[in-house]
Amino acid sequence: MPKMSRTVPEGVRFYGPKSICTCGHTGDGTISQHHSSPFAPGHDECKVKDCVCVKFTWKGWTKEYKERMGLI
Ligand SMILES: [Zn+2]
Ligand SMILES: [Zn+2]
Repeated sequence: MPKMSRTVPEGVRFYGPKSICTCGHTGDGTISQHHSSPFAPGHDECKVKDCVCVKFTWKGWTKEYKERMGLI
């Protein structure tokens, strides 16, 4: 099992939700379940109804992203 890394391998593109918030919803980039902050897409409060999350906090990568990056 490779060590978790926040560094995206150079030259590899991924379009889709790549990060999971501590609330369990996706964030960080396209198809994010979090609102965009002025500085980073998908990094503000959660859009999911009844979720109390007020700010995206990185917890890990989505399964799809890890597969794309060859992490799993
Ligand atoms: Zn949430
Ligand atoms: Zn969240």
